[in-house]
Amino acid sequence: MNYYFYAYLRNPKVTLHRGNCRFCNDGKGMQPKKLGYITGHWKGGYPSFELALEAAHRISQRLGIEPVYCQRCLSQKMELS
Ligand SMILES: [Zn+2]
Repeated sequence: MNYYFYAYLRNPKVTLHRGNCRFCNDGKGMQPKKLGYITGHWKGGYPSFELALEAAHRISQRLGIEPVYCQRCLSQKMELS
């Protein structure tokens, strides 16, 4: 299982996902071709959640925000924060 996160650039937000999440789709997202513009980018896959979280924290700090977990695939990981 790989882990990913998505960094929105317009409205800074970093969301962590599992690779098998339907929103993540192994870093490809839901409908990559339907978006006519770039809203952000996927990072991953990281072999462990801890590595993904560490990288997400680094980017989030740069954006001045806190990373969040996908409600659908990572809600049971909330205790790690
Ligand atoms: Zn997800």
